[in-house]
Amino acid sequence: MMAPNQQGKQVQQRHDILHTCNCGAGCTCNTTKTSPGVCRCGAPLKWGHILKIEGDEAILCQCDEGCTCALNRQEQSKCTCGKPVKRVNLKGTGLYFCNCGGSCMCNTVSDKPGKCGCGMDLKKVD
Ligand SMILES: [Zn+2]
Ligand SMILES: [Zn+2]
Ligand SMILES: [Zn+2]
Ligand SMILES: [Zn+2]
Repeated sequence: MMAPNQQGKQVQQRHDILHTCNCGAGCTCNTTKTSPGVCRCGAPLKWGHILKIEGDEAILCQCDEGCTCALNRQEQSKCTCGKPVKRVNLKGTGLYFCNCGGSCMCNTVSDKPGKCGCGMDLKKVD
């Protein structure tokens, strides 16, 4: 589904975006959504894109919005821009995601059930 584009600028529909709470180093909110918003703690959710899904965890890059970098092969705690990655647990978020083979780089998330581009059904972990 294409989201209506209010600003009139060209926005590519991506399926690898997660907005997460980032209210500090000790943040335990674990608020994760596919659309922008505000966490229940009051902090605005921060944009990020998925680099890899490992089990129930998504590894995110939170560089500038619109970034399309990849996971650093030498140093898996960083993306190819050299920034530290963020790990979020997708368990209990109500989101559907691909994890073909238990670990994948399809990087597909959705707030609805469906299929990934690789042909696998998206799964949800309660
Ligand atoms: Zn929060
Ligand atoms: Zn990036
Ligand atoms: Zn990056
Ligand atoms: Zn997939």
